[in-house]
Amino acid sequence: MGQSGKAAPGGPATTPAGPRSRDWLARYGKAHMNVFGLPARVMDHGQGVRIWDLDGNAYLDMMAGIAVNALGYAHPAWNQALADQASRMAHISNYFASRPQIELAERLLSISGAPEGSHVYFANSGTEANEAALKLARLHGNKLPHPNGTGPARILALTRGFHGRSMGSLSATWKPTIREPFAPLVPGLEFVPAGDAGAMEAAFADETKGPVAAVIMELIQGESGVRPLDPDYVASVRSLCIDHHALMVVDEVQTGMGRTGYWFAFQDPTLSGGARPDLLTFAKGVAGGFPMGGMIAFGQELSEVLTPGMHGSTFAGSPLASALGLVTLETIRKEGLLANAQAGGERLRQGIMDTRNPLYVGVRGRGLLDAVQLAHTCSHALASWALDHGLIVNAVAPDAIRLAPPLVIGPDDIDQAVDILSQVPGDLPDD
Ligand SMILES: *Cc1c(COP(=O)(O)O)cnc(C)c1O
Repeated sequence: MGQSGKAAPGGPATTPAGPRSRDWLARYGKAHMNVFGLPARVMDHGQGVRIWDLDGNAYLDMMAGIAVNALGYAHPAWNQALADQASRMAHISNYFASRPQIELAERLLSISGAPEGSHVYFANSGTEANEAALKLARLHGNKLPHPNGTGPARILALTRGFHGRSMGSLSATWKPTIREPFAPLVPGLEFVPAGDAGAMEAAFADETKGPVAAVIMELIQGESGVRPLDPDYVASVRSLCIDHHALMVVDEVQTGMGRTGYWFAFQDPTLSGGARPDLLTFAKGVAGGFPMGGMIAFGQELSEVLTPGMHGSTFAGSPLASALGLVTLETIRKEGLLANAQAGGERLRQGIMDTRNPLYVGVRGRGLLDAVQLAHTCSHALASWALDHGLIVNAVAPDAIRLAPPLVIGPDDIDQAVDILSQVPGDLPDD
């Protein structure tokens, strides 16, 4: 499902939907291009950390719309901000500015601790945020001295990285099955084995191929199974970037906005080794379920690489998206959701291991972006079983499930999720 690619083979085999969902799903299949597989259920409404399908079944949602619904469903402050802003103006284009847009940009600069002179660019999604970063990196690279004067400066991306589905971001997305059919892709992008400092150094050193304009990376590789990078590795990439005038682009589309227990993952030294990005991209959680994304350029110099007319978007930074961004960030602060994500994550990971279910061989992640490593490749069967038992989890890899609930989740709901997961049959078949 979603970015992770495919639904269970042949659809959610063990989870027949109720009659109302079934009828609507038949219509879905006739009307929608089949890129997501047949969805498992037709949902109707949500409240807090729960969502109900058309047949009246309730689900505890440990996926949150793929790490998007930071405040859960129908948070009163979010609903109020939506109604207030919608009744004033939703969209005006970037010929005009609005107060929420300006306030949100200021707030993002402040929570990211970006130095004086840093600036924000707004987009509408994760892939668009990364397109902006790749374009900026390309302009930067075009100005670097080139030893033999041909070809573009290179942009390095990591194996197992995910940056989006549009042509530029897709060119930096590793998974061959989703990238290769669309060749030829954007030239000048190269993959380097994630976590291998020597390989990164060698890639930088290979100057016959041209200088390195940028490295793009996630600090926790989300779509490939919630895999945190080693902080020493991240720090070593940072020094290589500094030495070679390359930009370090940190894709915080999934990890940002409090998900890992920090506003941004790079602020957690156990992930970043103290490194800070040159360009940071964000999306998913920023507006609590409304489409929004963007980029922060750290410092004045990088903030001036893109000049008027070079990049843009009709919808980006609309008053409505911005108002929802503001209320989401303000609610995260007011309700102490960074601390809640840290404590919740610890309770969740500990709880899973304490179940002693033989299926669960390990946990990883930070805050409320976590994965459970399974003993074998049964993640789709597990997600199906869980759905039947009122729990939404995401089959992020063949042998891992992702848990990324709303940041508002409390200890009782975490315990309920753990309780359901403890009952998953230890002898689930391979998918
Ligand atoms: C989800 C994701 C994207 C793509 O975001 P979209 O909004 O789906 O375009 C990019 N990078 C990372 C790390 C993501 O998790």
